[in-house]
Amino acid sequence: MLEIRQSEFVYQSESNMLEEMTSPQDTGPSLGTLALEPALQTIGASLLAEVRNQETKGRISDVFYDRLMELSTRDEKLKVELFRFVDALPALKTPESVARHLSEYLVRPDVQLPAGGAQLINFLGSNLPARLALKTATGIGATTMAKRFIAGRNGREATSAIERLRRQNLTFTMDLLGEAVTSEHEALAYQKKYLELLEDLAMASKSWTRQAQTDTASWGDIPMVNVSIKLSSLYARFDPMARDATTEAVIARLLPIIRSAKDKGFIVNFDMEQNDFRDVTFHIFRTMFLMEEFRTWDNAGIVCQAYLKSAEADLLALRDYAIERGTPFWVRLVKGAYWDYETIISAQRGHPCPVWPYKPLTDACFERCEDFLIENWMHLRPAIASHNVRSQARAQAKAKALGLPPRTVEYQVLYGMGEPMGRALSAAGERVRVYVPFGELLPGMAYLVRRLLENSSNDSFVRKAGEAIDASILLASPHTFEIPAPAHVVPADVTDESESMTPFINEPEADFALVETQDQMRAALKAITPELGQVVPVVINGIPMQGREVVDREDPSHAGTVVAKVSYATLDDAELALTACTASFKRWRDVPVTERADILRRTADGMRKNRFVLSAWMVREVGKPWREADADVAEAIDFCDYYAAEMERLANPRKRNIPGEWNEYFYESRGPAVVIAPWNFPLAILAGMTVAALVAGNPVIMKPAEQSSRIGYELYKLLIAAGCPSDVLQFLPGDGEVIGPKLVGDPRTAVIAFTGSRPVGLSIIRSAADVHPGQREIKRVVAELGGKNAIIVDEDADLDEAVLGALQSATGFSGQKCSACSRVLVVGTAYEPFCERLAEAVKTIKIGPAEDPSTTMPPVVDRDAQARVLRYADIAKREGKLLGEQTVPAGLDGCYVPVVIAKDCDPKGQLCQEEVFGPVVAVMPVATLDEALDIADNTIYALTGGLYSRSPQNIARVRREMRVGNLYINRKITGAIVDRQPFGGARMSGVGSKAGGPDYLLQFLVPRTITESVMRRGFAPTED
Ligand SMILES: Cc1cc2nc3c(=O)[nH]c(=O)nc-3n(C[C@H](O)[C@H](O)[C@H](O)COP(=O)(O)OP(=O)(O)OC[C@H]3O[C@@H](n4cnc5c(N)ncnc54)[C@H](O)[C@@H]3O)c2cc1C
Repeated sequence: MLEIRQSEFVYQSESNMLEEMTSPQDTGPSLGTLALEPALQTIGASLLAEVRNQETKGRISDVFYDRLMELSTRDEKLKVELFRFVDALPALKTPESVARHLSEYLVRPDVQLPAGGAQLINFLGSNLPARLALKTATGIGATTMAKRFIAGRNGREATSAIERLRRQNLTFTMDLLGEAVTSEHEALAYQKKYLELLEDLAMASKSWTRQAQTDTASWGDIPMVNVSIKLSSLYARFDPMARDATTEAVIARLLPIIRSAKDKGFIVNFDMEQNDFRDVTFHIFRTMFLMEEFRTWDNAGIVCQAYLKSAEADLLALRDYAIERGTPFWVRLVKGAYWDYETIISAQRGHPCPVWPYKPLTDACFERCEDFLIENWMHLRPAIASHNVRSQARAQAKAKALGLPPRTVEYQVLYGMGEPMGRALSAAGERVRVYVPFGELLPGMAYLVRRLLENSSNDSFVRKAGEAIDASILLASPHTFEIPAPAHVVPADVTDESESMTPFINEPEADFALVETQDQMRAALKAITPELGQVVPVVINGIPMQGREVVDREDPSHAGTVVAKVSYATLDDAELALTACTASFKRWRDVPVTERADILRRTADGMRKNRFVLSAWMVREVGKPWREADADVAEAIDFCDYYAAEMERLANPRKRNIPGEWNEYFYESRGPAVVIAPWNFPLAILAGMTVAALVAGNPVIMKPAEQSSRIGYELYKLLIAAGCPSDVLQFLPGDGEVIGPKLVGDPRTAVIAFTGSRPVGLSIIRSAADVHPGQREIKRVVAELGGKNAIIVDEDADLDEAVLGALQSATGFSGQKCSACSRVLVVGTAYEPFCERLAEAVKTIKIGPAEDPSTTMPPVVDRDAQARVLRYADIAKREGKLLGEQTVPAGLDGCYVPVVIAKDCDPKGQLCQEEVFGPVVAVMPVATLDEALDIADNTIYALTGGLYSRSPQNIARVRREMRVGNLYINRKITGAIVDRQPFGGARMSGVGSKAGGPDYLLQFLVPRTITESVMRRGFAPTED
């Protein structure tokens, strides 16, 4: 091999495509890089001059676009608000709405408008003719801007664009705009449009004559027609976690497309999307083109993104695949279009950032990838896609240095962005392909906004090249870049600068886009199988009790499979447990806080080590799907770490000493705590309540839900293994109706922490209020109860996001979350399109067993829950009109229920007032936001709520007026994260402060004040 340093690649298997290449030497120049520099500079300088010449010649004057770019380079905040306005435009139907949004986005104290800008915007909104003019102007502006980057609304319009390109000695790849779809209806429509496109192109290309420069390569003729495709648009349940199911479904959709392209002699290229989809996209590519039918077809193509730290490993794997397959394929090398997204999302999830952190590192990686691709051209047909003169000149210099015949390397640019570069390269005799997107503006909005962002980014070559920056700067080598010394980094999740506490770092959820993670989960499910059906004991003072009644707990996904044999604690056990906790209380109270906190931290470590096994138990015992089960473990870990830190914070007494008088305010333990937990967050909620009580110095009687006793037992064992004394923690599985009243009513109980239904919660509060003989304490009750949560969808909302968000909030874990959405209120004209899309989207739900990663909705927890949900499904159909339903597929034998969505429901009816705890949703039209707020508020609950809107004013209003415990804006309403989103509601949704928040532990503590006069005979010691 030539310059490429093979030793850098650590390739063993396909999964190594995910290998991170982060070591500093990866960014350094190779010998070849240095040797190429003089030729590169010469080629680059003349290419740059020609690009600038072409730019001047081909400049299209576009007032809107030019003004937008000019404004967006003035001020970052102004840019963000302008682009948000552009993004919202297609959803704004009336002149009033356009004028209002323009003003809301831009006329704000924090946005720097040019002089007179605010007055102009206010004037435009002030009268109807001006508003009409504004709507027309912005409509024309958006359309002309879209036309700049999008070649037409349909294949016919786009065909005339590509024919114009061909006349300029440029060739093309056609892309039908569209990304992740919300329904199979959309996915099938997308597939159909591709098939039609291929037919149209076959017709159109009949009249084309082959051109040597565009239609031949060094190895011979190449197809005149080339199409690009985004795989996620072909299947609504596209999910890297369900790798096999996704691969199978996408290949089924692709087959007619690829067969048609192959018959017609076209090229098909798979685009690359966000990093989550990378592995499954490669997998589909591999699987598809190893099929006998396509194995020798050399017109398939794929993309490699050089902004990924894994890019070089990806290329190596692709090269090995090409060798294994025995037929070359095309590889388009790009930097990548989702840099901001990847950076933000990985920070949000706490995952390693997959992209290079500095632009020169991406550029340098791009050059190393160019080297590799061009050296391996006989296996991987290189297509270098960039608008950066240096990046393109580098490929030319490399091809020249290797003495490759002309047109071995292809150069690619984007329509509307890279034609000057394309024409310049074409003038130099290269084969240049233009990526030509077409389609409607609405599905194309994400693409348009990406182009606007790219053109206005400080790091973008296109922007810099337009700013008359000197060639020596534009062509400077990225390999000499020195990574800046780490500045004082403010962690992403600190937003309140007044907080002095070290920011809490949440436990990241497992990354199920990785095959290794999927394998770990599968292995854990296998590992627990021999343990199914084991006895879960009652444990008092560390001793498992013998001879208790045992009740079978069945796997809700599979009738008849016993997951655990649960011992039911007796009243005598409850008595023993209370006695034990009372006896251990004083000793435990006086254990230093750091020791108690360390037990929690060790428990968190134990959970980390057993993460997939704990998840596997949840899958089997309560039917929690993979991601949700893992999130449950992550939350349990967070509770341990967070409450440990919180208790250490609270353990510092507050001092208010004055001369001669010392004052101290501090917290002390309350006494024995009874924890009664639900099954829906079988680990997290049980762990949260238990460890909060423990770390506060209260012995605990832990009563898991009947349905999730095995998981409860796993938690008990982890706590004991972490050093929790066995007389401080008692484990009492069993029937809540039998032992609950005894535990709650006993005079020795000091605290009751309960999460569950409203009736049971209220009865606990009532019973705890009774004072019994011998009782020394007024009991403290912490009760998290139900919700009847609403999402408001505003008229200007992004409906794709709203539909997906509402559906996920309503059907995640089959709606068995107190935070789940059960009412959707849609404002004005958004109602009909929202209903249409929701009705289609609900069909994408796959009801199935929880252990199958392709399941999107598992069964409910047991037969009682199933009967209740089915009852409400009937009520929904009676009280509203059936909008959409996903029925249970035949052949499933478990506690499965359908998803039922009813529209036009009565807001005061049973369906809209009672908590269902299942996937039954009411959708209602509302005329205004006022009406939406009224209806949202007309239940007894106030737990979670949501809003989808792009109006800053409406968002501000809903923030003020939707008085729920947890309000979520423009995202799903479930999945609260410890510390970031402390969780809990008001009114009939519960009493007490929020779990995972700064006030939670106070409920398990008693505050005390001690005042000491330290003055003796007129003198006093100074403070320590
Ligand atoms: C024909 C064609 C097809 C394409 N297809 C795809 C595709 O399928 N999938 C895809 O993801 N992309 C694709 N792209 C790439 C993408 O859309 C951008 O156009 C491209 O990344 C811009 O790179 P550049 O070399 O033109 O510009 P440059 O200005 O040199 O580079 C800009 C790029 O650098 C990277 N970057 C920006 N800031 C930073 C930073 N702070 N740290 C590290 N890196 C940074 C980003 O990738 C950014 O796009 C395609 C591009 C072309 C031309």
